[in-house]
Amino acid sequence: MRKYNGSSTVLVTGGAGFLGSHLCDRLVAQGHHVICADNFFTGTKDNIEHLLSHPRFELLRHDVTVPLQVEVDEIYNLACPASPVHYQHDPVQTTKTSVIGAINVLGLAKRTGARIFQASTSEVYGDPAYHPQPEGYWGNVNPIGPRSCYDEGKRCAETLFFDYHRQYGVDIRIGRIFNTYGPRMHPNDGRVVSNFIVQALKGQPITVYGKGQQTRSFCYVDDLVDGFLRFMALEDTYPGPINLGNPGEFTILSLAKQVIELTGSKSRIVYADLPVDDPARRRPDITLAQEKLNWEPKVQLAEGLKKTITYFDKLLTRAAATQDA
Ligand code: NAD
Ligand code: UDP
Ligand code: UDP
Repeated sequence: MRKYNGSSTVLVTGGAGFLGSHLCDRLVAQGHHVICADNFFTGTKDNIEHLLSHPRFELLRHDVTVPLQVEVDEIYNLACPASPVHYQHDPVQTTKTSVIGAINVLGLAKRTGARIFQASTSEVYGDPAYHPQPEGYWGNVNPIGPRSCYDEGKRCAETLFFDYHRQYGVDIRIGRIFNTYGPRMHPNDGRVVSNFIVQALKGQPITVYGKGQQTRSFCYVDDLVDGFLRFMALEDTYPGPINLGNPGEFTILSLAKQVIELTGSKSRIVYADLPVDDPARRRPDITLAQEKLNWEPKVQLAEGLKKTITYFDKLLTRAAATQDA
């Protein structure tokens, strides 16, 4: 609820995760009161440690599949494991998180009148037949494969968001996020950027799946969060979906080589099986984000990788020191 002094209260579900913790930082810095709700499935207290004593920050251990009664002006719904290793660990819970979680946060938005952002994903396009992917493309998703719990859960969440918008007038904003990287990624979550950097820093082999010719487009976290904030600040009601990602496209093999070069590592590249339903290529068409939000990413891959490498280097050094102690 808007405070007597005019500041607003913002709920961030999944706020102790990689993207959520950066978002909480920015919202607190902007003067908002932030309620971070997280069940700590993949998120950690370390990510938000520095905020815990802040007077405008509040942490709730909460699972979004359970209803939540709080008074808020804005909601960012980020709760959901994002890496294939994590979301395939308990696929039923992944779908529940996306679908029942969406129903609960939308019910909350309906009751409070809060504007609500949904962290959707490029995975709604599946293994895309169109390249680069515009928002009008309906996707090519396997409904029964090992990735489906995530992809179809997120697609159903988009359906729910649009139906709450059309049926009840809830002010929704759907952002389709493409691969994002940066400090506070989980070191063992199996995502490609964290895997390659950790392997390179430890001098272990770099595991390229398939031939490494599949492509991805990597967005630095600060750019992405800037896109979230611009979208939510739009005065015109615009539900989206809007693609949020960096259109620079790289093969996975070229990413491996770049990480080796930037870390100065002696690691060699090894090849492993390509996971089932791994999309062959992915790049956002961000024309809509440019037009509607006047937004485009600023951080080039090499620059963002250097910052991420510095983060993991410190993390691994700290972990080694704790083990030695
Ligand atoms: P993350 O795993 O670091 O963060 C997810 C957070 O949600 C964690 O803190 C986790 O503990 C929490 N969570 C999971 N299930 C929950 C539940 N049932 N109730 C409450 N909290 C729960 O992942 P991330 O990269 O920060 O992703 C955040 C959001 O952005 C996710 O919704 C993800 O699908 C979306 N997204 C991320 C990317 C990316 O590249 N990082 C790309 C597309 C979409
Ligand atoms: N809900 C919630 N917090 C609120 C309001 C609703 O968690 O402040 C939940 C509610 O428990 C329900 C869901 O959101 O499970 C959907 O709410 P809605 O009002 O759309 O449906 P209904 O309560 O009529 O089933
Ligand atoms: N990948 C890889 N080696 C790894 C981890 C991932 O080659 O150690 C590949 C993976 O097969 C995919 C790409 O990198 O083609 C991106 O994988 P990630 O899990 O980061 O994201 P997503 O597949 O969800 O885009």
